[in-house]
Amino acid sequence: MPVKILVPFKAVSEVAGSTLVIDHPSRCSICGNESANYYETHRLPLRAGRKRPGLYRAKYQINKKYRLKIKVCETCYLAGYLTDPDAFDYDPTPLGRLARLISTGYTIGAVIAAAGLLFLSGLLPDVGLSGEFENYWKFLAGIGLLIIVCMWLLQKQRQNKIRTELQAKGLNLQKPYRADIFTPVVETIDNPQAVALTIGLANDQWAQDCAKHFGWESQPYEPGEKRGIE
Ligand SMILES: [Zn+2]
Repeated sequence: MPVKILVPFKAVSEVAGSTLVIDHPSRCSICGNESANYYETHRLPLRAGRKRPGLYRAKYQINKKYRLKIKVCETCYLAGYLTDPDAFDYDPTPLGRLARLISTGYTIGAVIAAAGLLFLSGLLPDVGLSGEFENYWKFLAGIGLLIIVCMWLLQKQRQNKIRTELQAKGLNLQKPYRADIFTPVVETIDNPQAVALTIGLANDQWAQDCAKHFGWESQPYEPGEKRGIE
C-alpha cells in the first residue's frame, strides 16, 4: 500500500523561500533504482497561522513559497516530464533548459500578442498612429500568437519523443512517476510538529526509510483520498 511521509511545519519553515531536499535513501523514490542522480521538483506554498479573512490583509501569518526536491532515477525523471513539464524550469538539466525556454517564450509571445491586440482594440488614446498602422498591429498580434503555438508544439514534440523512448523500454506510463504532494494549511504557527507537507509514494519501503531517516512520521494511505479543505 502507498505510504505518505508527513513533513512537520518546523522542517518546512526552515527552508521557506529556498529548497527542501529529500535525498535519503539514495535509491530512486519511484522505482527503487540504485542509480538515482536526478531530482523531481515541486514548487509549493507554506501557509501557516490562519488569520480572519479581511480586505487587503494577508490571510496567513506565514505565506511563502519553497521548492521540494526528491531523489529519482533518470527514467522516472524523464517520465515526470509527460505529466508536469512546467515543474522542470529550475532544473540544471537539458529538460530544465527546455522548460525555461518554453516559459520565457510563452511570456514574450503573450506580451507581444497583448500589445498587438491592445493597439488593435482602439482603446488607446489616438496619437495619430491608427489607419495605415492597423495592419502592423494585426501582424504583431499574429507574431505573438505564433510564438505561443511554437512553444506549445515544442513541448508536445519533446513529450512525444520521451513517451516513445520510454514505451520502447517497456515502461508502464499509466503509473504515476511523480510523488503525490499535498500542502495542508498549518492552523497555528506555535505547533512545530503540525503537518505542513505530505509526500505520497507508491514505493512504501522508500517512504518509510526516508521518514525514519529524517525523524518524521509516515502512514499508509489511499491515493486520491479526501484530504480536507486546502
Ligand atoms: Zn526510478
